[in-house]
Amino acid sequence: MLTGKAGVARVLAGGTDLLVQMRTERVSPDLIVDLKRIPSLRTITAKAGAFRIGAAVAGAELGEHKALRKTWPGVVEAANLIGSHQIQSRATLAGNLCNASPAADSVPALVAAGASVSIAGPRGKRIVAAEKIATGPGKTSLRKGEIVEAILLPKRPPRSGDAYLRFIPRSEMDIAVVGAGVSLTLDAKGVCTAARVALGAVAERVILVPEAAKALIGSTVDDEALKRLVAAASAACRPIDDKRGTKEFRIRIAGVLARRAAETALKRARGK
Ligand SMILES: Cc1cc2nc3c(=O)[nH]c(=O)nc-3n(C[C@H](O)[C@H](O)[C@H](O)COP(=O)(O)OP(=O)(O)OC[C@H]3O[C@@H](n4cnc5c(N)ncnc54)[C@H](O)[C@@H]3O)c2cc1C
Repeated sequence: MLTGKAGVARVLAGGTDLLVQMRTERVSPDLIVDLKRIPSLRTITAKAGAFRIGAAVAGAELGEHKALRKTWPGVVEAANLIGSHQIQSRATLAGNLCNASPAADSVPALVAAGASVSIAGPRGKRIVAAEKIATGPGKTSLRKGEIVEAILLPKRPPRSGDAYLRFIPRSEMDIAVVGAGVSLTLDAKGVCTAARVALGAVAERVILVPEAAKALIGSTVDDEALKRLVAAASAACRPIDDKRGTKEFRIRIAGVLARRAAETALKRARGK
């Protein structure tokens, strides 16, 4: 259906971005396909330690899923920062990702988590890393007729933790001026063996920062390693100036938030 019709087609998940864009005439679709009633897109399934989150699962449902919350607290806290209770009863992770806002809250957490997405389209299915979906503001790498059918979170090794933090000028219902997601794993001696760091609202899309992860790997995530992380996170930023923050502010805050998110991820990896 999405490929067959000429004109602009849009998928509707929660509609919390799409309906606003239609009301403000930023988009006028000729065809809308609602995903919310497709049963296979409505479930969270856990298999061998990994999770499959259907594209029509709302943020509120993520928060209610005990095993998901325990394994990926950073992903769930990021999703549960989106909007209000009303918004969370509709908004999906897939919609947040496919809307391709550089400031999307769940995306740095998903990218840090090493999430991938299952895409279904006229030419079959493919799996793509979460960081490869948005290509710029409002633009994705999805081909005509393709939809994201699920978000896939990998199995976690023991002693792993993740966290997401954002800066907004008020306490809620605002767009991130900067967002930072960190996921890390420790060995039995407390040395970091794997890490991923992702930043939001500091570039044209959410970015994975391998240099910031390298600052942690091989360390006990001590003060020296965290200082290297701060420097690497700030160095990776290429933000714009806008009414909510200057370039300099965003660069500085990216380092601060990356450090705080790493400290929370570390506590979680230690089981605290
Ligand atoms: C009051 C309010 C507050 C908000 N606060 C926040 C916030 O704090 N943080 C934040 O990040 N966002 C926020 N948002 C934006 C929005 O709620 C989120 O981006 C949300 O996750 C979008 O999900 P959705 O399911 O509603 O997407 P939809 O509006 O249904 O879709 C968004 C876009 O993605 C496409 N799409 C959706 N699902 C798929 C799919 N499975 N496959 C392919 N394309 C798809 C749609 O065609 C559309 O272009 C807010 C919005 C409002 C109205």
